[in-house]
Amino acid sequence: MSERGWRLDTPIEALTGVGPAVSKGLHKLGIATVEDLLRFYPRRWEDYSATQKISALRPGLVALKAELLTLRSRRAARRHLVITEAVLGDDTGTIKAIWFNQPYLQNQLKEGQKYFFSGKFEFKNNHLSIQNPSFESAGDEIVQHQILPIYKENSQINSRLIRKLVAQVLHHSGKLQDSLPESVAAAQGFESLDVAIRAMHHPDSIRDLEAAQDRLAFEELFMLIVSGMALRADLAREPAPSIPFELSAVNDFLKLLPFSLTAAQKKATWSVFRDIEKPHPMNRLLEGDVGSGKTMIAVMAAVMAVRAGYQVAIMVPTEILARQHHQSIGALLAKLGIQTALFVSSLKAADKKATLTGLDDGTIDLVIGTHSLIGDKVTYKQLGLVVIDEQHRFGVQQRRKLREKADKMPHLLSMTATPIPRSLALVIYGDLDVSIINELPPGRQTIETRLVDPEHRAKVYGEIDAQIASGRQVFVVCPVIDSGDQSGRKSVTIEYEKLRRGTFAHRSIGMLHGRMKADEKEKVMADFVAGKLDMIVATSVIEVGVDVPNATVMMIEGAERFGLAALHQLRGRVGRGEHQSYCYLISESESDDVINRLRSLERTSDGFRLAQIDLELRGPGEVYGVRQHGLDLGLANILDLVLIERAKSAAKTFLEEEKMVKYPLIMARVEQLKSVTSLD
Ligand code: ADP
Ligand code: MG
Repeated sequence: MSERGWRLDTPIEALTGVGPAVSKGLHKLGIATVEDLLRFYPRRWEDYSATQKISALRPGLVALKAELLTLRSRRAARRHLVITEAVLGDDTGTIKAIWFNQPYLQNQLKEGQKYFFSGKFEFKNNHLSIQNPSFESAGDEIVQHQILPIYKENSQINSRLIRKLVAQVLHHSGKLQDSLPESVAAAQGFESLDVAIRAMHHPDSIRDLEAAQDRLAFEELFMLIVSGMALRADLAREPAPSIPFELSAVNDFLKLLPFSLTAAQKKATWSVFRDIEKPHPMNRLLEGDVGSGKTMIAVMAAVMAVRAGYQVAIMVPTEILARQHHQSIGALLAKLGIQTALFVSSLKAADKKATLTGLDDGTIDLVIGTHSLIGDKVTYKQLGLVVIDEQHRFGVQQRRKLREKADKMPHLLSMTATPIPRSLALVIYGDLDVSIINELPPGRQTIETRLVDPEHRAKVYGEIDAQIASGRQVFVVCPVIDSGDQSGRKSVTIEYEKLRRGTFAHRSIGMLHGRMKADEKEKVMADFVAGKLDMIVATSVIEVGVDVPNATVMMIEGAERFGLAALHQLRGRVGRGEHQSYCYLISESESDDVINRLRSLERTSDGFRLAQIDLELRGPGEVYGVRQHGLDLGLANILDLVLIERAKSAAKTFLEEEKMVKYPLIMARVEQLKSVTSLD
């Protein structure tokens, strides 16, 4: 195909230099067409536009053009660590550069050649050196452009290759459709999309680059916020049952509790009561740390709904959790004459049938189960409230299913223990009302948390055994079920066998993971709850909800493989009773960043604070997996409150003054967002 004929949807294989291997690598990066390539923004840039002479270098970020005088690698005393050292020189002096764990540099760099280097120049081990600098061959023509884009790479594709491909298509960027409405772009004083895209891939100056980033980040935020607002408006037009507030229902319920509600619980409960009284569906998210008592809020809403003659469905992610909820909630509500039932796949056929019948004829008021509750087999007499535990959001498709099950749209309450900072909530939950429960019931203990070097594992085992000896129970969590590979990752099956036959041969140990059959899992969990097992070796399936007050130790292998929020959740499985509890994090990683990240768990037990730290360190894509769900926040810095506010007010004005149907790209985005159900 001639270049003239290229369109945005032209397959990437039409470009020069894209053979089968490169094509495969590009597809892995999500690049299939010319448009994908243009929209494949660099992750960062290296500024070679201001190179310095060696004699003039000052600590901080530096860029220089220098000759590689010597290069050698050695293994450090610490395991796994390879150190590569180089001496660089120009006409003013020499300087040292150090790389860690990049043994292949030995093949990439050649002594006697000139390169551009860029990196951090700092004091380490008593002398100044450049740490882990990136480099480009000084003979490389593209480097003369000086501000170099660095893209996400994989084994087939490096940034150099992407730059060459982008250079072939960049002059087509004018064909890209701008999703930002013209009126909005003009009001914000933005350049055209075309200019911004060019500046991303080929910036002439840092200023141009920053303007481009601002524009594109604004576009992302604007689209998300507008879509959220549009979804909210859609939902507000649906009819829903109005569930009147009844003070006596609240009082009857509160009398059953051995404690009084926290201020945060009360506040959230009032918001929920006010929502469900309206003749339009509630769509509220309760965000509260592990153990903050979210369940009570849902149960109070349920009581109100049942009093008003409606049925309630509570959906949870796992069967174990469904059973626990059913036990505790069922016992409580039975005292108010409310009929509850459990609906999970492992029920006997006859029990299932009885529940189905009861839901259909209305004799069951409240049902607790997994997502099968909105399955095709289940029919309700009058469903009025749906609670989704441990999930962020209920997708529009799922909502549609609900409406098919009820003549009016039921009210929706989602609950999550993954705390999301306000700024982010505003952007990705534009369609939800959010209640934050920022307070734990009084008297909660702090769980003693320690990051432990793998070499000291035996000592931890000693402490664990002492806990078991005094009657307590223990969780050991591994990142994978079994590791067929040689990665050295701890796996449930191997650890289970090892501990059972070795260190803890005198204790009773169970195993729990997602590939076991439901009834096997149930049995293990039930045995643990009943105290028949001293220890469970598990994957993070035990992460959500499970309540065993006698468990006091949470040991997490391969802790570096979990996000802070997940680790915090796991930690929340212990410390639920009267006994002092412990969390041991074992990490195989030697990286300072990882170690610092994990250390924050030692210092704080505040889930919101941890979420914020995670977000700052790893970015929203990693933390919330938003990218897989089509909520691409690749550029937008979610901590950039000023830009978020700007996008929010622009979105408001836009929706007030314009007709959305005129903007197909925005309509498409709304549709896409509708399919987002969970950000876990
Ligand atoms: P989560 O928010 O993690 O779902 P739960 O709702 O499971 O937390 O509550 C954790 C525990 O705290 C439960 O045993 C619950 O009965 C108890 N609880 C809830 N609210 C209070 C309160 N106000 N005072 C004391 N204990 C409470
Ligand atoms: Mg809960």
